[in-house]
Amino acid sequence: MSSHDFLVIGGGIAGASVAYELQRHGSVALLERESLPGHHTTGRSAAFLVDSYGGPTVGRLTRASRSFLEEPPGGFAEYPLVTPTPVLWIARDDQREGLASVLASGREAGAQLVELDASDALALCPALRGDYVAAAVVEPTARHIDVAGLLDAFLRGLRRGGGEVETKAEVTTIERDGDGWAVEAGGRTWRAQAVVNAAGAWCDVIGGLAGARPIGLRPLRRTAITFDPPAGQDVRSWPCVIDADEEFYLKPEGGQLLASPCDETPSPPCDIGEEDYDVALAAERVQRATTVEIRHIRRRWAGLRSFVADRGPVIGMDPELPGFFWLAGQGGFGIMTSPAAARAAAGLLTEGELPADLRSLGLRREELAVERLHGPQG
Ligand SMILES: Cc1cc2nc3c(=O)[nH]c(=O)nc-3n(C[C@H](O)[C@H](O)[C@H](O)COP(=O)(O)OP(=O)(O)OC[C@H]3O[C@@H](n4cnc5c(N)ncnc54)[C@H](O)[C@@H]3O)c2cc1C
Repeated sequence: MSSHDFLVIGGGIAGASVAYELQRHGSVALLERESLPGHHTTGRSAAFLVDSYGGPTVGRLTRASRSFLEEPPGGFAEYPLVTPTPVLWIARDDQREGLASVLASGREAGAQLVELDASDALALCPALRGDYVAAAVVEPTARHIDVAGLLDAFLRGLRRGGGEVETKAEVTTIERDGDGWAVEAGGRTWRAQAVVNAAGAWCDVIGGLAGARPIGLRPLRRTAITFDPPAGQDVRSWPCVIDADEEFYLKPEGGQLLASPCDETPSPPCDIGEEDYDVALAAERVQRATTVEIRHIRRRWAGLRSFVADRGPVIGMDPELPGFFWLAGQGGFGIMTSPAAARAAAGLLTEGELPADLRSLGLRREELAVERLHGPQG
């Protein structure tokens, strides 16, 4: 039997980042079912850091994560974790309303946004079709995140601090053990005062093992493809282009282009694969909005973005199970919010309160709490 202060379930960005933060407060073991951390959603993202995405709560967590990602603590990462990649929200004439709501909710979240006309947008991304774009908004301070580098840095920092990372350790039972918890995983019994449920699309499954009420998590499939840029064009200076109604996005990715049709198909939690239809839709939407011709798709994949009903993150102690803590519902923003979400989780778990800098951004415990998802007791 191994005894720790904290057991973290899930070796994606959520689990790795919270385990890294918690090691300052006690001994930590992270349990991951797969042989490699990051195998599921974390390894399949588009790697944006964009303040104008996801609404005010997410925006506050993203802003609070920015300084960590731009200037990580000394010795945390070997290479820069972010590179500048402006985000250009574009709208057709029939999408001006969508663009106005991006602008309004982005500004409410504190994002720096500049309104552009169609010719400014074309100057930033020359591949856009002049008869497609009617208006645009740019977030010049958006970034591309080195997701593999970030995950690796959290895990290395965890190990350096004495934390354990156990892979091929699928959690199969979670039971009360005195005032703590006993967890079976990878043929061993793990005991801890607190368990953090950071199992991505499986958070409600893990909650079920502990006897928790579900939070109503819905995993939604999202597809991405990469392909060659137009011959002779250096696309590294292009912005990431996102449609105001989220019908597609197109992003430079290491000399290639990455696109998604922004699909959201419900799925049970699983090792999800992409569908031909969504791959074709990505290509069709890019070619409708731009002059880019997609001749050969180099890579194609899908991942599950998991949301609760209000699409906000779930960070808090289960109200009915002392010591069972949720870090769930990271949807399409789990990478860019991970540093602040992990600090929020560590603060709530160890002090019962959010760190002061997060509170000063206007973040409140209640907007993250599990209770908001439980209807009136029946
Ligand atoms: C196409 C796409 C684009 C995206 N783009 C962005 C973006 O630009 N910016 C951004 O910030 N976010 C983006 N996201 C979202 C982001 O990737 C997720 O929010 C984030 O990766 C979620 O991390 P996680 O750790 O919660 O989940 P995961 O990475 O899925 O990790 C959960 C882990 O829990 C483990 N687990 C589950 N059950 C058990 C068990 N019983 N025992 C042990 N381990 C278990 C799993 O094996 C898994 O490794 C994107 C997602 C997709 C799919």
